[in-house]
Amino acid sequence: MPLDFLKRRNAAEGDPATAPSHAAPARGSHGPITVPEEVVAQEYQLKLYYAGKTSEGVRMQATPKALGELPSMLHGLAKTEIEVVEPLPIEFSQATPVIARPSEAMQWLNAHHIHSPVTRHALVVLESIDAIDLAFDTFVCTLLDGDVDTSGYPEYSAILGGVAAHWDEATGDMIVRAVVGWGGKGVRGDTDRIAAKLLAGILTNVLANQYALGLTAVDRPVPAAGRGGLVCAHCGFASAHERAFYCPKCGMRLLRG
Ligand SMILES: [Zn+2]
Repeated sequence: MPLDFLKRRNAAEGDPATAPSHAAPARGSHGPITVPEEVVAQEYQLKLYYAGKTSEGVRMQATPKALGELPSMLHGLAKTEIEVVEPLPIEFSQATPVIARPSEAMQWLNAHHIHSPVTRHALVVLESIDAIDLAFDTFVCTLLDGDVDTSGYPEYSAILGGVAAHWDEATGDMIVRAVVGWGGKGVRGDTDRIAAKLLAGILTNVLANQYALGLTAVDRPVPAAGRGGLVCAHCGFASAHERAFYCPKCGMRLLRG
């Protein structure tokens, strides 16, 4: 059965007498409307400011126990619970905290909704400025300075971070960096200085760890562009990082087929 509104529309289009006119509306008795020389614009803007710092790397003795040591490197500095964010497996390889890209944003939320507001904020800041990459980094995070709002989200002047660890592709050693970040709708003059002090404090803790071997240049692995790589025979982790020699999660050697 045809729908009534469709019939009406067709009838109107077929009959010029009843079709609505597409010509400009007739001018009234007020004469032509003058176009102003200058348009009065209402201005809107939002300035987001994200910043962060990372230290040199510290090479750790190659032992699976070193991974378990990471949270202890924040003792004395953590103002909230210490959370461990593991490297993301291949199914989250497109995860990006950018809401205008729904598929990437959904992946990101699916991967990180379990974390605390402090950790999620830290991930948004540090991933946005490319200070950490969860394709290979294990990130251990806490609130280091400043406050959270009533919902538990850090204020823009709060400083977050901790340590990021990855497995060196050449040697299989774990490399640990101190990482701090902050930002949001504004910036405060003394945040940078406080962040530098916190970074030094974390690095001191890392170097004081029993497995630390000393400072090293950081050669970050290069994640693969899409196709994805290998499944770890030891822990089952499917890495998005096809050039990896060592499992981003457990640090064991990846076997190639
Ligand atoms: Zn593994």
